[in-house]
Amino acid sequence: MTTLSNGIRLMSVYDNRTMDAAFAIAVNVGYFSDPPELPGLAHLMEHMMFLGSKEFPAENEVDEFLSSHRGSANARTEAEATVYFAKVGLEGLNGSLARFSAALSEPLFNTTVYEREVHAVDEEHRENLVNQDRVVSELVNQLADERSPLHHFGTGNLTLLYDVPKAKGIDMAAALRDFHRRFYCAERMTVVLRCGLSLDEQHLLIESRFHDIRSGTCEQPRNFQNPSPFVGASVGNYVRMEARSTWRPEMILTWAVPSLKEHESW
Ligand SMILES: [Zn+2]
Repeated sequence: MTTLSNGIRLMSVYDNRTMDAAFAIAVNVGYFSDPPELPGLAHLMEHMMFLGSKEFPAENEVDEFLSSHRGSANARTEAEATVYFAKVGLEGLNGSLARFSAALSEPLFNTTVYEREVHAVDEEHRENLVNQDRVVSELVNQLADERSPLHHFGTGNLTLLYDVPKAKGIDMAAALRDFHRRFYCAERMTVVLRCGLSLDEQHLLIESRFHDIRSGTCEQPRNFQNPSPFVGASVGNYVRMEARSTWRPEMILTWAVPSLKEHESW
């Protein structure tokens, strides 16, 4: 594990058994830090992040570059982190990192991309509505203290990310840019790279591609333990939920335990 000049942490893994490279970039901010009036904003941003940047403005640039080098990419938004990951033939690694870095530095958040991706987010939400595990976990989250970010709905849907902002006159491009400016900086990022380049070569490559990502300007994201989600009226509850006919019977007992974060070594 090393740290780049701007504060990005890098974990390099040397693996010469493959001609492919794999990398992931984690940004330590997730849906817990959504603005209260825009639940799902971090998730929507994740969908739009690689669909046009100042340096590579074409919407399909990243996808086309990756697929022309035997690659693909995906991403996910968690409560306290957003993770972007890809695999690509080693010959396409440098170009892929250039495109990822450009997107993370200066994404465009085009209106046409927004209008399409907000529907993709809505589609995910509707799929979650028939997923037993997702519904149960959302129910548990709703039992958390209202002041906790755990109480917050993180997926988002068409109503919350399109209809309501439109009715209130919220500029969504400005909201996305604002979230990006507040939370996407070098100190919040960790890069993991695995390929057949030596560890020194990996460090030089990532440094050359990611040193432009700005540092020193980030806000603190919200986290799980502050305030504590399960205290007072939010514990000691017994909840029964009407299930869909296809769902299995299930009883869930949940305990809140103290955060383990301070015991993490990195
Ligand atoms: Zn999604």
